[in-house]
Formats: sequence, C-alpha cells, structure tokens
Amino acid sequence: AAAREDALVSGLNPEQREAVTTTEGPVLVLSGAGTGKTRVLTTRLAYILNKPLAQPWQCLAVTFTNRAAREMRERLAAMIGPQAEAVWLGTFHSLCVRMLRRHPEAVGLRSGFTILDTDDQMRLLKQLMEQASFDPKKQPAQMLMGIIQRWKDRAYLPDKIPQDEARAGGGSKVVQFYTDYQARLRELNACDFGDLLLLCVVMFQSHPEILAEYQDRFRYILVDEYQDTNVAQYLWLRLLARKYKNICCVGDDDQSIYSWRGAEVGNILKFDQDFPGAKIVRLERNYRSTPTILRAASHLIRNNQGRLGKELRAPGVAEEGAKIHVRGVWSQDDEARWLVEEIEALQRAGENLNAMAILVRAGFQTREFEERLITTGINYRVIGGPRFYERMEIRDALAYLRLLVSPDDDLAFERVVNKPKRGLGEATLQMLHVSARALGKPLYATAAELVQTDELKPKARAALRDFVEGMERWKALVDHMDLPELVRTVVEESGYAEMWRRDKTPEAPGRLENLEELYGAVGEYETLVQFLEHISLVMENEAKSAEEPGVTLMTLHAAKGLEFDVVFLPGWEEEIFPSKRSLEENGQAALEEERRLAYVGLTRARKRVYISFAASRRIYNQWVNTVPSRFVDELPPDCVEQQSESGLYGAGFAESGGAWGSTWDDGWGGRRKSSKVVPGDGTSWNVKAREASSGFGLGERVFHQKFGYGTITAVEDDKLAVQFDKAGLKKVLAGFVEAA
Ligand code: ATP
Ligand code: MG
Repeated sequence: AAAREDALVSGLNPEQREAVTTTEGPVLVLSGAGTGKTRVLTTRLAYILNKPLAQPWQCLAVTFTNRAAREMRERLAAMIGPQAEAVWLGTFHSLCVRMLRRHPEAVGLRSGFTILDTDDQMRLLKQLMEQASFDPKKQPAQMLMGIIQRWKDRAYLPDKIPQDEARAGGGSKVVQFYTDYQARLRELNACDFGDLLLLCVVMFQSHPEILAEYQDRFRYILVDEYQDTNVAQYLWLRLLARKYKNICCVGDDDQSIYSWRGAEVGNILKFDQDFPGAKIVRLERNYRSTPTILRAASHLIRNNQGRLGKELRAPGVAEEGAKIHVRGVWSQDDEARWLVEEIEALQRAGENLNAMAILVRAGFQTREFEERLITTGINYRVIGGPRFYERMEIRDALAYLRLLVSPDDDLAFERVVNKPKRGLGEATLQMLHVSARALGKPLYATAAELVQTDELKPKARAALRDFVEGMERWKALVDHMDLPELVRTVVEESGYAEMWRRDKTPEAPGRLENLEELYGAVGEYETLVQFLEHISLVMENEAKSAEEPGVTLMTLHAAKGLEFDVVFLPGWEEEIFPSKRSLEENGQAALEEERRLAYVGLTRARKRVYISFAASRRIYNQWVNTVPSRFVDELPPDCVEQQSESGLYGAGFAESGGAWGSTWDDGWGGRRKSSKVVPGDGTSWNVKAREASSGFGLGERVFHQKFGYGTITAVEDDKLAVQFDKAGLKKVLAGFVEAA
C-alpha cells in the first residue's frame, strides 16, 4: 500500500499533493482550467481507499455529467482496482435517485416511482392549469414550469417560499398551483427531474434518522465542477458533510457557465463560512495547454468584472507553442471548407482525428461542418446530441418534404399527419390504415379519398382535409419556388414551426434554430429531389463505426472538463458568440457568462486553437453581414496569428460595423412570391353514372357498418354516394360497404 501511495502522489506538484493528502476537514480547490482539479479529485479518492481511510461505499463523489462519472470510475479502477465499483460516484441526480429509491416513503412516494420526462411534465402541468383556470395566453405552461423549477433549484417547498420570491414568481396563485402540482405528482407516484434534489433535501430535513445514516456512511465527500452547483445541491452537500466535514470541492469560478440552469457561483464564496477552517488550495500550474493558449485565455477572461481572480502558469517545460490561428473568411461555406482542409492537413501531419474537436456556441452550427466532413469522408461524432439530420425537428421537416416528392412514402405520412396535433386520434388513424389496405393504396392517397367521404367524423375529416389540401398546395409550388422559401412555407403553413414556438421547454429555441438552418441548407441545391438524395447519402454515412477515430463536434457547454490537442472555435461573430440573446439581455452578467464560455473553449486545447469568423452568413435565403466577435479583439495580439481571405479587410470591417445585422439582397429577395396558392376545389363530388372498378352500380342496395342500409346514388372509382335509410346521403368508400 505504501508503495502504491508513493506511485499515486509522486507525479503531483506540491499544491496538488497537499489537496490530495489533506484528507481530514473541508478543502476547497479553487483554480483555473487544466490545473489538475479533476485529477486531484480522482487521486484523492484513490489515496483514501488505498490507505485505507474508508471503505469504497463510504465515499461519495459527484461529477457534473454521467460521462465524467464513467471516466472517473475508469481512472480510479486503473489506480486501485475493482474496489472502484463500490464508490458512490455519479451526478447529483443519479445519486439522489439512488437515495430516494431506498426510502421512497419518506417523501410520500412508493417504490417503483416514475421520473417524468419533460413531455409528461408539460402535459400534467397543462391539465392542472385548466383546472386552476389559468389563462395560458397570459401565463404559458412553460413559464410556470420555469418558475417551479427555479423554486426547486433553490430547494423551496411550496410552503417555504420566501415572500419576495413568491411575489416575483407570480404571487399566491402560482404558489397554490405549485402546491397542487406537487400533490398531483405524489398521487401519480411520480416526481419530476427537479424533485430529485429537492425531495432528497426534504427527506434529510424531515427524517433525521435517514440523514444520520448517510452522514455516518459518507466519511469522505468529493465534488467536481463545484462552480456550477445550485442551491439545492449545495444544501444537500452541506447536510451530508455535517458530521465528518471531510468534504473536498474543486472548481473554477471562471468556468461557471450554467447560471441559466440555476447554478450559483456564489456557493464557492460561501464555502468558507459554512465550513469554518476550510483549507483553500490554489493550483496555478496548468498541465494542459501551451503558454500561448494560457496567456490568451487569461487575457480574455480579465475583461470580466465579477471574478475571484487568479493567474495560470504553464509548468515551464512546455514550449511557447503555436500561435492562435484567427481566420476571417467571406462566408460560412468558406469557413467550413477552410476548417475541414485544416483538419486534413493536420491529419497528414500525423495528428489523430480523436484529438481534434470543433466546439460551437449553438447546436444548429454543427450542420455546415457535418456536411463538409461527410463530403470529405472524414469520420466525426456529435457529442451531447444527435447529428444534425437525425434531430427530431429536422426529421419531421424532411418527412414533409419526402411526402411532397413521393406521396406513397407511408412512413413519412405517418410521421407528419398528426404533427403538429391536428386532432386526428387513434380511431382516425386506424380507419386510415384499414381503408388503405382495403383500397390497396398508399396512406396519403387513401387520405385524399377519405376526406371526400363521410367515413370520418366531421372534425377529423376537416382536419385531414386541411392536411391534404396543404400538401396539394405545396406540391404545386415545388417546381416554382426557391427551395428555402418552399421549405419554410411547408414548415410554417403546416403549423409545425408554430408548434415549437408555443413550446417553451429549454430545447424549443434550439429546434427552431435548427429549422432555420435547414432552410439555409436546402438553398445549396437545385431541386428538392437532389436535396433529398443528398440527405439519404448523409444518413447512410451515419452507419460508420463509433470505434473508428473521428473528429468530435459539440457545444461549448458540453465540452466542460474535456481536453483535445486541437480545438476549432468557429463562428466567433457578434450575435452568434456572444449570442444574440445574451446581447439583448442588457447588463454585464449575460455577456460575462458568454466570455466564460470562450474561456472554457480556449482552455480545452492542449496544443492548437483555431478561431474563425465569417463576414456573411446565409440566414434563410439572404446573406447577412456579420461582424467579428468582440472576443476576437480581446485576445492579446502577440498570441495571435491572423489570416484572412484576400480582400476581406480591404472593404473594411469598420464599415460593416455600421451595417450591423442589416441584410443585403442577394438577388433572390426580388423573386419572392406569395406562398398562398389557392387550389381548385378538388373536393367536389362528380356525380357521374358510371360503373366503378368497385363493381357497385347505381341503385344497388348496400350495407355499411356505421350508417346501416341504403341505396347507391352515385359511383366514382372507389367512392360511393349512398342514400342511407336512416343516416341520409353519405359519401363512403366502396370497400366499406357490402351488397345488401
Ligand atoms: P478543467 O478546469 O478544464 O476541468 P482540471 O483542472 O480539472 O481542468 P485536469 O483535467 O484534471 O484539469 O488536468 C488537465 C490535464 O493535466 C490532464 O491531462 C491531466 O492528466 C494533466 N495533469 C494534471 N496534473 C498533472 C501533473 N501533476 N503532472 C502531469 N500532468 C498533470
Ligand atoms: Mg476538471
């Protein structure tokens, strides 16, 4: 054990060693990116178990993501072997679930309780809103959900909300609603995601014996990414650590990037007060990045006011390293082309694709790079979300387009016929399927016929007819409208975009951005068919093995804690990064959080950073002038090597600065057409006396399941007009009647 202990700590610098070996009492490691905080935490755990100061199940370690938990467990296993399995190691949420599952009755739940996903949660909320007679126009469900979530993040039960907070949330009516919502959840033996921490804290507070059991158990508590904990998580930790006080938190205030999810960087400042005598360790040696990258990151983050302040040094052995490559290009297409060429060049120089990452501000930005990587044949993976063309909203939109081009695509039909909800219930859809089988026709063609009959209830029939009419109208536009305009028309007129606009879940704005990105993407193709062919090629490419080396694509938020040899940071333009939203929100706080994101991005790199910005972006079917991000100017010139496409600065960004957000017509704008085309009345019933393929003839008596007996008064193809004895004149499908 002693020999192993030596091995464990021998590679550490003195401050790191201190953080590892000061096992008793509270310790706060506060230091910048890449200084070895996560490594210290893992080593500390190994050190404790190696001594041993505690058994594995007496140690509690918290990470920010499940992936980080997995990694930490693997590292730990490599250091001390299979004991690593028994450590309580996971995210706050997974650890809370584990505790609640052991004593569900303590918080009014029963064993096997369910954890609602966002959809279920919204549905429940809307039901309750109706009962409580909330006006969803004034107080949308999503807003209420946000308020409740905020209260939960702060660990407030309905009866414990401080007055000013209650007022800020909408007053007693909203508080009452929160009460009812919680009660309903308990009735359903369910909880939502935010409940996990809240209920755990409540359980500790109301059941001292349960708390005591955990306090006795967890002799050592370790927390990574401490700067992004919220109040509930903080209380949870404080309660658990109260007995032994052996808690070690590591964090970096400059990397606090989740305030929008309730994280409070102030928790770092309070640590000292809550755990008097806490040892504060500062690690200043960075082992990850070159001095050049470090200087650039430090210089940039110095523009933030609200920070604790610290400097980073490289260990001194590393060479200065390559300058940060800042590249200005004319357009987003050029940006993707240039970036992927750089990746190829690096690959030729011997870099592994696994060591490269493209980090973007928002999810929609991956599309351009994905396409370019695919055409070039470079393997890639998107972390933290599906690839662009696999995202739900994109697949939905594509299904509409597929159906336009091939009306017999039943899968596409099923995907979109009731999306957005058109009030087409199970019964209607079943009817459609039965009819399609009876007619031997695709679903869409069947729907087109059914709406001319009385087989469906009037409401369903009207809804389906709207859908069919829409499709017919858009079909007529296919060869006459610019593709971006066409796709937008379909997505808008179908009500699909509106569905996401109404949805106020945290993912909804990103989905709308992805749709906007899609409009831009189709603009690169001549015809819809060409575009869809391209997509099927893209999708085929998805099958490539995840084991193969590949470039990583992800958002800056998802990149926290990770490191790569080479990091690409595209899209450094005002209104993209910093984001439009952060700029609209006046005040420094939002902007400073964006800057911390930039800091996180830069400090992910070991050797090289490439930053780029384009002078114009295609937004819908217009090119929009863009301005380089202020963060570009905040990089120290001596760390930067700037290269721009020829002529880019000739015209001068000074001028374009005045044209902020203005658009120029690229020649398409003038050709925009009205998208409303009124079709001929395709629903009129042609009363022609002719023998149909159905084999029924005029005047024949028939029987229909729903309408009973009647006499045929008109025949057309597969449809009949029947004068029913009781139900009156109806149009029905021939397949649904039998000779009487
Ligand atoms: P972040 O703030 O980004 O989460 P961090 O402070 O957690 O960073 P780590 O990820 O633990 O930093 O370490 C950064 C890199 O430096 C890792 O590759 C790690 O293995 C290495 N490292 C840390 N300490 C040492 C050391 N004493 N000697 C050599 N390498 C080290
Ligand atoms: Mg870390």
